[in-house]
Amino acid sequence: MTASPPKAPVVAEAHEVDTFQHPSKPHIGSLQEYETLYQESIQEPEKFWGRQARELLTWQRDFQTVKSGSLENGDCAWFLEGQLNASYNCVDRHAFKDPNRVAIIYEADEPNDGRNLTYGELLREVCKTAYVLKQMGVKKGDAVAIYLPMIPEALIAFLAITRIGAVHSVVFAGFSSDSLRDRVIDAECKVVITTDEGKRGGKLIGTKKIVDDALKQCPDVRHVLVYKRTGAEVPFTKGRDLWWHEEVEKWPSYIAPEPMNSEDPLFLLYTSGSTGKPKGVMHTTGGYLVGAAATGKYVFDIHEGDRYFCGGDVGWITGHTYVVYAPLLLGVATVVFEGTPAYPNFSRYWDIIEKHKVTQFYVAPTALRLLKRAGDHYVKHEMKHLRVLGSVGEPIAAEVWKWYFETVGKEEAQVVDTYWQTETGSNVITPLAGVTPTKPGSASLPFFGIEPAIIDPVSGDEIAGNDVEGVLAFKQAWPSMARTVWGSHKRYLDTYLNVYKGYYFTGDGAGRDHEGFYWIRGRVDDVVNVSGHRLSTAEIEAALIEHPAVAESAVVGVHDELTGQAVNAFVAIKDGNEVNDALRKELILQVRKSIGPFAAPKAVFIVPDLPKTRSGKIMRRILRKILAGEEDQLGDITTLSDPSVVDKIIAVAHEAK
Ligand code: ATP
Ligand code: MG
Repeated sequence: MTASPPKAPVVAEAHEVDTFQHPSKPHIGSLQEYETLYQESIQEPEKFWGRQARELLTWQRDFQTVKSGSLENGDCAWFLEGQLNASYNCVDRHAFKDPNRVAIIYEADEPNDGRNLTYGELLREVCKTAYVLKQMGVKKGDAVAIYLPMIPEALIAFLAITRIGAVHSVVFAGFSSDSLRDRVIDAECKVVITTDEGKRGGKLIGTKKIVDDALKQCPDVRHVLVYKRTGAEVPFTKGRDLWWHEEVEKWPSYIAPEPMNSEDPLFLLYTSGSTGKPKGVMHTTGGYLVGAAATGKYVFDIHEGDRYFCGGDVGWITGHTYVVYAPLLLGVATVVFEGTPAYPNFSRYWDIIEKHKVTQFYVAPTALRLLKRAGDHYVKHEMKHLRVLGSVGEPIAAEVWKWYFETVGKEEAQVVDTYWQTETGSNVITPLAGVTPTKPGSASLPFFGIEPAIIDPVSGDEIAGNDVEGVLAFKQAWPSMARTVWGSHKRYLDTYLNVYKGYYFTGDGAGRDHEGFYWIRGRVDDVVNVSGHRLSTAEIEAALIEHPAVAESAVVGVHDELTGQAVNAFVAIKDGNEVNDALRKELILQVRKSIGPFAAPKAVFIVPDLPKTRSGKIMRRILRKILAGEEDQLGDITTLSDPSVVDKIIAVAHEAK
């Protein structure tokens, strides 16, 4: 990263000769090379992963056993006897080699408030903070809660915690005090790290106040470390609360990293809660880090000198693996963006990409739908350094995929639709940028070590061959898979490993097409069965979004006397379109045309917005409950980003009756 040039007269820029060129070759030379390596990863996983683990990470003690345990027994473990430290791998080794290399590009909520941190600076900050935690009594194996906005200190906190062998449990700093309380209690955290306030989209968020409320019912929390972000007056509990800036001043800038066994827990993270009560997923050190580094290198084709920008929040797995671990393990600069894509206007992402010459960008379809809806006049930027555009979190409709590729990527950058889960730790079905040919809407081919199986949900048997549909499972363990659900190993076994013995069950439906490419159809519970046709909600939603008036859509199945289930669609339309029966008819026609008459929605509800989790995923189970008249049994809705939409949707549904 070069510093911004001294102010020059504007005309000079116009004459600048541009010599920029993309790096000539991806890490993997061809699809054929991928196939050869992939076969090795499946036939000889020990050989493949042993080599990757030694190449990508620095071990304090080498491992001897690459892999042990089985999916049947739920005791998979990797790189045994090996010892390493996450913060050493993310920071020290790069800082020793090149202390002035930029590690973090902090893009603050206000466009000009940001700053950069080099690897040398990051090492000092991480060490001081690690000392502070140690002095607070945090020991190896203790869980520490992070309730921080997207600021460099969030990454410093991650790395300080792992440096002393403690376990981070990040709670998205948009969750209510009740959600925070539940997660602090579940993980038995003794320390919480937060800010006085957060700043997002021009608005202030009272993070410290939320922590105070949550901790009223967490008597075991001994300390709260508070980073001063805005300088607001906040109440302080004497003895318990400590200012970050006062504490770090007390301690030296180097502390040795704690050697950790490969299978020691690295972090806990609660799932998004789209399907029910969030699960505290546990990841371990060696396997998770290998997965993060390997996917960063091969999926995003990260090279030295890249500037990587993942728009996900550190409160989600995407932020863990692709804001923090993958880019830092590979020693490149990671953009930490505090704000929203809509502030100060809908050009914000593109401004950031242009300003920092971002090479890889990674975001969820929900943000892309928002930006596509806002209009192309916000995307005037050249963004010529962009090589890879990632998508994650939900199926991406072909319409949105094409917009991403053409309007954002100028048909130069490759779109990688990456399928994975909190539980998988890193991308599992995904194109490799620059290598795998893509088809809009398909997550394409398995990553190394992932052996997908399509299972018939009725018989439970695996379906061989191509051109098949069913539920998606994996036949082999891979390094970055979750090892347990915190405090509930039985729930882990029952949710993932006991459903189809010998397989890891994803909970998602999928198809494998005639070329062996995978198409994720959405959650198994979201599949609609009309007169024996198993329809994917994602596919019907993608058809609806092709209509120019549609901004977002969600499809669910409802009980139907005649057909078993019937398709019902919820649609949010773009501003300026009239809501009437003619539009509803057009939408039904759109689905008939794109998929077929059997998929046509029986009812179309035009709603102001859809119920979405805070990570932007549509919670279809709420729509199903509303249609079934079970509004009093909505279940856990604490992870909804705007709970008030539920009443608005209920009103629309009632009106239609
Ligand atoms: P919970 O498990 O609590 O219900 P969640 O499954 O939404 O929450 P995550 O682990 O964040 O929590 O999300 C993983 C899920 O997101 C996948 O199982 C899949 O349904 C969906 N998903 C992620 N990436 C993609 C993708 N590229 N294409 C299609 N679906 C995706
Ligand atoms: Mg899930």
